[in-house]
Amino acid sequence: MQTDTITAISTPLGEGGVSTVRISGDDAFEIAKTVFKSKNNKDLSKMQGYTAAFGKVYDGEELLDDAVALVFRAPKSYTGEDTVEISVHGGTHLIRRVLRSVINAGARLAEGGEFTKRAFLNGKMSLTEAESVMNLISAKSDRALNIATKNKEGALSKKIKNMTDKLLYLVSEISVYSDFPEDETLCISEDDFLVSLKEIYTDLETLVSDYDKGKLIIEGINTVIVGSPNAGKSTLMNLLSKTKRSIVTSIAGTTRDVVEQTAKVGDYTLLLADTAGIHETTDEVEQIGIEQAILRLETADLCLAVFDTSVPATSDDKALIEKTKNKPTLLVLNKNDLNSAKEEYYETLGLPFVKISALTGEGEKELVEQITKLLKLNELDPNAEMLSNERQYQTVQRAKNSVNEAILALESSVTLDAVGILIDDALAALLELDGKRITNEVADEVFRNFCVGK
Ligand code: GDP
Repeated sequence: MQTDTITAISTPLGEGGVSTVRISGDDAFEIAKTVFKSKNNKDLSKMQGYTAAFGKVYDGEELLDDAVALVFRAPKSYTGEDTVEISVHGGTHLIRRVLRSVINAGARLAEGGEFTKRAFLNGKMSLTEAESVMNLISAKSDRALNIATKNKEGALSKKIKNMTDKLLYLVSEISVYSDFPEDETLCISEDDFLVSLKEIYTDLETLVSDYDKGKLIIEGINTVIVGSPNAGKSTLMNLLSKTKRSIVTSIAGTTRDVVEQTAKVGDYTLLLADTAGIHETTDEVEQIGIEQAILRLETADLCLAVFDTSVPATSDDKALIEKTKNKPTLLVLNKNDLNSAKEEYYETLGLPFVKISALTGEGEKELVEQITKLLKLNELDPNAEMLSNERQYQTVQRAKNSVNEAILALESSVTLDAVGILIDDALAALLELDGKRITNEVADEVFRNFCVGK
């Protein structure tokens, strides 16, 4: 199939060692030859795959820079097509000029994710493997990277194939039975049929139930820090994020807006939001900040409720505990370094707590352990296959619901033909999940979220 040739800058824009423009498609070599001249007159279109040539890159007659051209021959390239990568010194304007020169030579600017889309369409990777490329790029912690790498290596695809094969076998059993009903029995007993369906259901259920925890690891944990003024919220934020982003003073009410910061904590990423101290106030500006804090609390995955234990719990502190009741909340009993710390009240509430000193850093390790426990992240099998985005989650939900209905139908002696239709629905969802059977709209939607150049 004839494809047009696409190009894009494949490295981040900025000053650095090298920047690269990637060219992929049927005319990749011819287009690259127009802009790149090898020092030894090497002909790019005759070079072997995985070899490089040193030379100079031009825009028309104008010399732009020294360059290295790396050649990949179809099908042994990322996209499965002929590909050339031209690398020059890393500079934003320079690489844009190289890109323009390549476009002038006949390539089309690639859309977001178009290289990976071509890799998928050319059978170089399944849809979930293609999606894991995006997770690989955006991974902010070892655990997130681990999930993305495993999926990139096909762990999820294998799991999906395993379930698909089982469902196909069951459907084929039903169709043989429908074609020869006079034989009356299935090759597989009805009990085994049910067991097989239930096994598939359990696998789908595990994927679904692990998704929320996996999402926290992949996307980061949306964490709100709340507490009375002067409890030490900003100090905690700065401790966790290892910055001085939040202003720390002994003057109550300093943080009025929501201050955001990303923190790598243990194996996880916390997307922290430091908020205005929640308490009764007549100050209009402070009141807006408090309303924002409460809004954040409602949408957060995790709440760190900070209390100044150098003073007895106030009515504001007690009211705050009430407000956090419906959220996974860790009571952070701060200022533990002060001998006068009064922690008994909080300890007897039966809520998860940790004693720390945000000032000295004492108790930080325990805080991470408590977060892991509270969000049940330790229950996640690090070797389990994991869904990594909403599309995958919704598609597995569909498959799970259909399998569940098939089980109920079988148990209530509905005709096998009807059971077969429900299994077909589950199969359709699983085939869509890994891109074996998808519409152009679904494919476009998947790759739209990718960055240009990938
Ligand atoms: P916020 O209003 O809740 O953000 O509180 P800040 O982080 O601004 O801290 C208020 C005051 O308490 C500052 O003077 C901090 O230095 C002090 N502080 C915060 N955490 C601790 C702690 O763990 N120990 C001690 N001794 N002082 C702290």
